Amino acid sequence: MNPSNPNGPVVAIVVAAGSGSRLGTDIPKALREVRGVPLVLSSVRRLAEGGVDVALVVVPAGQEAAFEGVLDAAPIPCGLVAGGDERQHSVANGLGLIEWHGGLEDAEVVLVHDAARAFVPPEVVRRVIDAVRAGADAVVPVIAVVDTIRELTDEGSTVVDRTALRAVQTPQGFKRDVLALAHERLAENQTSVTDDAAAVEYLGLDVVLVEGAREAFKVTEPFDLAIAEALAAAQDRP
Ligand code: C5P
Repeated sequence: MNPSNPNGPVVAIVVAAGSGSRLGTDIPKALREVRGVPLVLSSVRRLAEGGVDVALVVVPAGQEAAFEGVLDAAPIPCGLVAGGDERQHSVANGLGLIEWHGGLEDAEVVLVHDAARAFVPPEVVRRVIDAVRAGADAVVPVIAVVDTIRELTDEGSTVVDRTALRAVQTPQGFKRDVLALAHERLAENQTSVTDDAAAVEYLGLDVVLVEGAREAFKVTEPFDLAIAEALAAAQDRP
């Protein structure tokens, strides 16, 4: 932890409790190795390089020992908690762990990161943290959409103006109390959202956009593993 940090330690909730069924592996996706390094460890290393002090990793129930073994090599302290049925339940479990994990009482900046975005450049992590420190309630990294997009309609389909579209990545950054309140409200009202910025918007608060990076893509399908292998080789780093 960094004692010179005025907002307390920066905590990242790393959600890794998905099954990875679209990847077609029989181990949890986050444990899949690329050039010998499990995706979850790549994520934690890059988060640490970008300024994260502690990672709380949300894992599939029953897989704690396997994740603990992998995260022994992490450069920052890591806590583990089992995930839920939906991604937002997994994030809520991570938020719960902040409460009772020692040393995090002063944490004011919380990031939420998909373990599967294992190649996120540390500069993106730093941009997100800086924007929260500068006063934003919620921050998301985004990139322009390169494909032309068509929206399906009852009549067929219609083209969408892509200049106004942005694809959303992680890590997303939040004031801790705002994120906690957003998840409380979602649970009370049994409302589902696909990401945490949407949870904060549900409270009526604004979301700040910062520049993401193509490298922060989410490893989802077998094709993505080929890209990940090539990227890891080109970067020549773990
Ligand atoms: O399924 P999807 O690709 O949207 O998942 C994004 C991230 O959320 C992944 O890193 C996955 O492990 C995590 N997740 C989770 N708990 C779930 C579902 C997904 O932690 N129940």
